[in-house]
Amino acid sequence: MIALPVSRKDLISLSIKDTQNTIENIMEHLFEDETFIPGEKTESRRRVFDSGKEILTTTDKIIKSYIRVSRDNREIVRIPAYRIQHNNIAGFYKGGIRFSETVSEEEVENLAVLMTLKNALHDLPYGGAKGGVVINPKDYSDRELNLVSKKYVQRFAPDIGPTHDIPAPDMGTNDQVMDWMIGEYKTIHPGKSYLGAFTGKSIENGGALGRREATGKGTYHSYFWLINEWARKQKDREKEIDKGIHFQQYEKLKSIYERSDEGKSIRMAVQGFGNVGGVAANMAYHCKELKHDVIAVSDHLGTLYNADGLDIDKLVVFHNRNNQLPNTQEELDAAEIKAELLHRDDILTLDMDVFILAAIEDQITTSNMKKVKADVFVEGANAPIDAAADQYLHDQGKVVIPDILANAGGVMVSYLEWKQDRITQVYTEDEVLNQMYLQMSNSCEKVFREYFSKGLPGIRTTCYSNALKRLFELLYKHGKLF
Ligand code: NAD
Repeated sequence: MIALPVSRKDLISLSIKDTQNTIENIMEHLFEDETFIPGEKTESRRRVFDSGKEILTTTDKIIKSYIRVSRDNREIVRIPAYRIQHNNIAGFYKGGIRFSETVSEEEVENLAVLMTLKNALHDLPYGGAKGGVVINPKDYSDRELNLVSKKYVQRFAPDIGPTHDIPAPDMGTNDQVMDWMIGEYKTIHPGKSYLGAFTGKSIENGGALGRREATGKGTYHSYFWLINEWARKQKDREKEIDKGIHFQQYEKLKSIYERSDEGKSIRMAVQGFGNVGGVAANMAYHCKELKHDVIAVSDHLGTLYNADGLDIDKLVVFHNRNNQLPNTQEELDAAEIKAELLHRDDILTLDMDVFILAAIEDQITTSNMKKVKADVFVEGANAPIDAAADQYLHDQGKVVIPDILANAGGVMVSYLEWKQDRITQVYTEDEVLNQMYLQMSNSCEKVFREYFSKGLPGIRTTCYSNALKRLFELLYKHGKLF
């Protein structure tokens, strides 16, 4: 029996090779589970699974190009740019375009594979792709960024489109970049349907209402669902939960809603106060079913702490005006916010029950994993908990809701944007968010029920395994595995 990876240790990896190994390991585990694709036995089963592994560990298309732009000082620069399409068995390729100096072919390919898995996990009708341009957008003027965006579309136009490959914003890009790109796409394809070729556009340009808040709301919902819709409903069935780590995790989840039921507040901290963190903090602050004190929030400048709970409404108002949290006593006084100012990283080790990580990657690592005190961690950001720390927290009976599950609200709403652009009908904000909540609930139901009821080795592994099962079944039904 092949040992399944427990959690991020073997799953989230810097290199495409590691991701491919993870896929192979999980597929090997599925091979041994004869309830999966039961019609295939012995040698033909081996062949079918080997060809499935080959397909899912091979990237369909890697396109590299160079963008030449004339900078404001008239210097001509030559910038590497990528669009990488991993697999489209579940639907059209879909994935963001990032503008970052760290972009490399390997990184973009790895992210494309992870998009295939994320879209499959959430039953979205998309495959996985990713794009990248090797620039630091902060070093470029608007005119220069506009040129880079247009040239990107010129280079990759034959490979993108509403029924082929649909990019979206990612690190370093936003709705403005998508608007520029769709403008260029339209010019290149006169008279053709174009709006659904990009998602994450401005509302005026066909973007979905509620898109900005979708990831933060979805992130909060994954945690809320686990506590209120799963843990709370296990009371009569708790004897069925696997003893050991699973039961320890269940007890931690139970203690969270019991705390709220007893009139004590759940102590929550939120790292990052942007689109994801600011919205998630606000959701917790206003949640009627579970009572929270948001005792700390942080951004790149510092941490704000109040053991009795921060006034999130006032912080949202301040942030909307200043695009950052208050970081001096004068600013706090002027905004009438009661909080202590702490170092940015102090938030990581405060005494709390729930920690939403919504800033950047690698925040909980071997250097601080023994000092973190929360029982439940929610990955709003991508990869904020590193491999070793993830494993350690799991072994302590703590619960980590992984990024592939928690932060998918954005791509779910991207799907609705693509749909509304194709049927030329605008969804209301309520329609968009209700659909996102429903889809997130379905994904949580699938993952958490299976993880706890079957005593599986890790929540992250359960997500990956679910995604691979869907992809494998599609390949099988399409007659692609022999
Ligand atoms: P954002 O730029 O709106 O906000 C990021 C926040 O993190 C800011 O408040 C910033 O000050 C803070 N921050 C940066 N470095 C920090 C540090 N060292 N310590 C504490 N705070 C720090 O970005 P966002 O859209 O909210 O995205 C946050 C994370 O979620 C990113 O990792 C992003 O890749 C991921 N994500 C976002 C979406 C989305 O739809 N926005 C979807 C999936 C994943």
